Amino acid sequence: MDFNDSPQEVEIREEVRAFLSAHWQERDPNDEEGAMSIFSERENPEMIQEAKAWQRTKAQSGWAGVTWPKAFGGRGGSLLEAIIFSQEEAKFKTPPDIFMIGIGLAGPTLQVHGTTAQKERYLPKILNADELWCQLFSEPAAGSDLAGLRTAAVKEGDDWIINGQKVWTSGAHYADWGILVTRTDPTVPKHKGMTYFVVDMKSPGIEIRPIKQITGGANFNEVFFTDVRIPDANRIDQVGNGWAVALTTLMNERMSIGGGMGMMGGPGMLKNLIRLTEKNYINGQPAQNDPYVRQKLAHFYAQIRSLELSGNRMMSQLNKGGVPGPEASTLKLSLGILMQDLAAFCMSIQGPMGISLDDTAFSNGLFQELYLGMPAARIAGGSDEVQRNIIGERMLGLPPEQRVDKGIPFNEIPTSARVA
Ligand SMILES: Cc1cc2nc3c(=O)[nH]c(=O)nc-3n(C[C@H](O)[C@H](O)[C@H](O)COP(=O)(O)OP(=O)(O)OC[C@H]3O[C@@H](n4cnc5c(N)ncnc54)[C@H](O)[C@@H]3O)c2cc1C
Repeated sequence: MDFNDSPQEVEIREEVRAFLSAHWQERDPNDEEGAMSIFSERENPEMIQEAKAWQRTKAQSGWAGVTWPKAFGGRGGSLLEAIIFSQEEAKFKTPPDIFMIGIGLAGPTLQVHGTTAQKERYLPKILNADELWCQLFSEPAAGSDLAGLRTAAVKEGDDWIINGQKVWTSGAHYADWGILVTRTDPTVPKHKGMTYFVVDMKSPGIEIRPIKQITGGANFNEVFFTDVRIPDANRIDQVGNGWAVALTTLMNERMSIGGGMGMMGGPGMLKNLIRLTEKNYINGQPAQNDPYVRQKLAHFYAQIRSLELSGNRMMSQLNKGGVPGPEASTLKLSLGILMQDLAAFCMSIQGPMGISLDDTAFSNGLFQELYLGMPAARIAGGSDEVQRNIIGERMLGLPPEQRVDKGIPFNEIPTSARVA
């Protein structure tokens, strides 16, 4: 297995770097700006405008939708090219990416399931950042088991009337459009009675309530629908085929998460960890002279390195035209556990300062923010337990989970909280 860039990949990387350095300053790996701010509040109006302007520049240069087909304005590139772009972009001081749901989920889903009119209406505005998107899938009683969703859509003339509640909707507070899965027929088994829509987030009857996170930010929301009207023209694919459409979205989400995986840990994190042990003291000595700390450093180095190599192995498979398989689950599971463990250790080395989360904290609170944010990362895109189920069933060949509601009409599935 060759983990080095192929000559063609070297060429792409150089092209990407030239494009990025024409617009942004490269981050200094030794500077202590630290916190990745992946979970903090970042979406202020100025940042959104700056992010949109950058997205338009990327679109004009063909780098906005790297994997989008050329027919839809994309670059027609491979997932690996998209990963190379993301890896290099992370090294520059670019605004945060708030377009993942539009570019990574809604766009690819519309490309497969949308009508010509729908593709022409939505795709160019996604690529150019004219419209931002959110994903209205999860509900209070439907997350890991998404097919248990209850938000109802009832046909009335040329419109559908939507009632129900979504939750954990990232970016709903600034999104223009949402991809929405609803239940249109509760009398058939749960996977069969769903229909997929796109919804204008400014529609009357939509109420968005931010959820305050432990990191202090409020990136996601509860979204309530009360008699919201959606024209039938906004239905994606056939009535009752929503699960198949949702699977296209989820497959793309999996690829986005798989592709972005390598960016969280890696050499930057190790460098910060080592600097932390140089600058913090135990018994009058730099912490890294302490035998226990040295043992932990070796442990984290080995873990991070093995994850990097596993990430490279996945990249190598992608390079051969594959898509992330169950091995992506091992990577996501291990990375989440490792990062939370590492963050806890780094907070303990800082002594009483370990609880500080302001600009007096080491690396602007990088490890504190990581510690508080990792539980979210270990849930989003498939929780640890769900990853373990995938590994058990698809890699270890263990018996599948019992699915007691299989084949039963949705409205006959016993539940303590039925509202449908
Ligand atoms: C940062 C973040 C951003 C998100 N953004 C969005 C978004 O934009 N749009 C959106 O629609 N959703 C979003 N989500 C929601 C996310 O998809 C769900 O949180 C996730 O699917 C888990 O669902 P749940 O929270 O309902 O937990 P549940 O599914 O209720 O799980 C509760 C617990 O039970 C465990 N569990 C569940 N099923 C099984 C099983 N079969 N076997 C073993 N254990 C099980 C879980 O691991 C968990 O510990 C986001 C979540 C986070 C954390």
